[in-house]
Amino acid sequence: MAPSGHHAVTIYTIAPNTLKEGAWSERREELADKLVECAERYIPGLRAHTKVRVILTPEDFRSRVHQRRHAFGGIAPVMGQTNPSHRTPIENLWFIGSQSESGGGVMAVMKGARKVANMLVGCR
Ligand SMILES: Cc1cc2nc3c(=O)[nH]c(=O)nc-3n(C[C@H](O)[C@H](O)[C@H](O)COP(=O)(O)OP(=O)(O)OC[C@H]3O[C@@H](n4cnc5c(N)ncnc54)[C@H](O)[C@@H]3O)c2cc1C
Repeated sequence: MAPSGHHAVTIYTIAPNTLKEGAWSERREELADKLVECAERYIPGLRAHTKVRVILTPEDFRSRVHQRRHAFGGIAPVMGQTNPSHRTPIENLWFIGSQSESGGGVMAVMKGARKVANMLVGCR
């Protein structure tokens, strides 16, 4: 991603869907500054050497991936909630990935994909 002689750094944390005070759109810079401040303990001079800064808040993630709640980790885990099944009402159309019943995170997504692959083989 970064041009020659530069580096790309991703700094992220778990964050709430909505803030107790204010909105993500108003407080994005302030909260990004806090993250950079924490990162500077490990990467001294990070702020001074930053050429381009891209801030993605939970709101931004939601608008990019068309989710109503939650952000990068997949479907929000809610007790008692049934997540969308791999098997859809449409024949031969399967639903996998972090928004499906297997949930978010690479391991869960892979597990769901494997399960569907096995179901497909079983279907033949
Ligand atoms: C910053 C960050 C850190 C993370 N850290 C971890 C971690 O440490 N461990 C972990 O387990 N999980 C982590 N995750 C979560 C994990 O990355 C996701 O849960 C997982 O990648 C979801 O897999 P997926 O296949 O559902 O979706 P994705 O990996 O998002 O894949 C969807 C793909 O579809 C493509 N696509 C979208 N629309 C279209 C279209 N119209 N046509 C064609 N292609 C399209 C996208 O470009 C993308 O390549 C992290 C996520 C983020 C954002």
